[in-house]
Amino acid sequence: MNTPYSRLTRTRELTEPTRARKHLVRELTVQRDQLKAALENMPQGICMVDERGHLTVCNAHFLHMLQLPDDAFDKGKTFIDVLSHSPVFGGHVERQARPYATEYFEIVWSRSPANVQQLWFDDRVMSITHQPLATGGFIETFDDITELRQADARIAHMAMHDALTDLPNRALLRQRIEEALPHGDPAGCVLLYIDLDRFKNVNDTLGHAIGDALLQRVAARLTQQLPNGAMVARIGGDEFAVLMRDGIERDQVAMLAEQLICSVSDPYALEGHDIVIGTSVGIAIAPEDGDEWAALAKHADLALYEAKSAGRGCYRFFEVEMERSMQAQRALALELHQAIGRHEFELCYQPLVNLHPQRVNGFEALLRWRNPKRGIVAAGEFVPLAEELGLIVPIGEWVLRHACWRATRWPEPIRVSVNLSTAQFHGNGLVDVVASALRESGLAPHRLELEITESMMLDNTEAVLSVLHRLRRIGVSIAMDDFGTGYSSLSYLTMFPFDRIKIDQSFTRGINERPEAAAVIRAVTGICASLGIVCTAEGVETGTQLDFLSRAGCDEAQGYLFSRPRPEQEIARFLASWKPHELCPVPVLSETDAGSRTVQGDLS
Ligand code: C2E
Ligand code: MG
Ligand code: MG
Repeated sequence: MNTPYSRLTRTRELTEPTRARKHLVRELTVQRDQLKAALENMPQGICMVDERGHLTVCNAHFLHMLQLPDDAFDKGKTFIDVLSHSPVFGGHVERQARPYATEYFEIVWSRSPANVQQLWFDDRVMSITHQPLATGGFIETFDDITELRQADARIAHMAMHDALTDLPNRALLRQRIEEALPHGDPAGCVLLYIDLDRFKNVNDTLGHAIGDALLQRVAARLTQQLPNGAMVARIGGDEFAVLMRDGIERDQVAMLAEQLICSVSDPYALEGHDIVIGTSVGIAIAPEDGDEWAALAKHADLALYEAKSAGRGCYRFFEVEMERSMQAQRALALELHQAIGRHEFELCYQPLVNLHPQRVNGFEALLRWRNPKRGIVAAGEFVPLAEELGLIVPIGEWVLRHACWRATRWPEPIRVSVNLSTAQFHGNGLVDVVASALRESGLAPHRLELEITESMMLDNTEAVLSVLHRLRRIGVSIAMDDFGTGYSSLSYLTMFPFDRIKIDQSFTRGINERPEAAAVIRAVTGICASLGIVCTAEGVETGTQLDFLSRAGCDEAQGYLFSRPRPEQEIARFLASWKPHELCPVPVLSETDAGSRTVQGDLS
């Protein structure tokens, strides 16, 4: 009987399983969606293949990595079918158009887990994990590690290259030299160390941005000059190196060094500035000059040092003698350091003689070092080293104070000339030191003259000029020493109103031997006369030289002819016994000479 109660019971019987099924379906849907979300949100491409080789699951990344269309996944298809359509495998798995395909399929068919990092499609790098399943199928995970690899490569490149020029750095140079010089292998290599002359000036005066741009241009020029198989590296601020391997003749190396110097020295136009920079080169050849990196690098550096000492802008091959002289320099440097504390410096004075009429105008203070082992060392032998070691600043201050104090004992208006070094122009100290030396000694400023050289004008001209003007305001005079030995001597005369020019002694020496020297002297005296600058000739040793200079219009002379530099205690006696030097009688003027300002003596 169909009672309401029985109807109710039947409905319940019918609906219970339906609900359970519906619940199950919902649960499964949720789980499937969760799985799908998880798969789609993983950074890797993943797929699952069943025991019959059918692709059962895969995510969008998987299709994307294999460059397959979004609808490529079809449950009926086998894994191989799907891969067959992937351009990554060259379109046809069987043909194995890609070289890595064979290796990959060996992994797929194997029943053991594997992890391989494979280069795919020229520029993509994949890490593939192959995980066989207990049911017979497998799971394949593809991880695109291209960026990671690129970052690794970048880091490796940075460790071995210079960031500014992208040239190999010192570490890579060393590695290449070590590869080129395996132990006992007589095959050699050539190492050239290249250093820019006065690069610091560019940085200091034009700023680091232009300095950096200049280094990049230098790097490009060096690279252009390289022969096949050679390598150029940047090994320090303004230091470069060229490495050439085996079979190069010495004269070829010399030719390359010359080419490099020439190319680097060509002017650069950078942001509206015309920049000229020189370069020096030191060369060491393996295995003769060293059969391993450290020795070869040290010897190339020594040769570079020699090239710089020889006046820059040139190259030098390493010679054993350089090592000995470097050791001697080191010993000298050590003793020089100690000399300040031990008060081993003294001054001697050389007269500056007025020529028309002859009388002593003043004395040049010349530094001497009384060394317990070496005896009296002349300035020429240690001042350059003291400059290099930075010791010339305290030594120079002592010279100034001592010379001023000593000059106060000489009769008026005899003056004292003091030599300055470039290092004394760095910072603001020099003007204060000069002012205080004058104040403390009581010497009138017009009795002090400061001698500078042309090389100082090369180094940071603006700063040097500003210091010179401030010194001039104090009342001291300024002389240009060793005139004619620099790059553009005449141009310096337009930059500052020098009180005196001292013609370098090489011209005086040349009077009798080189007609050009005599011509230069005549030209300089002429310029001095028209600019109102006093002209002094240095290094006068003979009466003939003096005659010539006197007739050429030189105002003043200095040299052994009058006196060698003398200790301070001898100056009073020297002045007391001073007698003018007799000049040769004036020759009769020829007609052609008659119109000129000077009369030429016999130069033969
Ligand atoms: P300088 O200023 O051109 O000085 C002249 C040099 O020539 C001196 O050498 C002097 O002894 C030498 N001399 C003078 N007359 C003759 C001559 O007739 N024939 C020859 N052959 N030589 C002559 P010294 O004393 O060895 O000085 C060399 C250089 O050292 C100086 O050249 C100067 O640039 C530098 N110097 C000397 N004293 C000082 C100093 O106190 N401070 C600095 N910064 N440099 C100094
Ligand atoms: Mg001098
Ligand atoms: Mg001089």
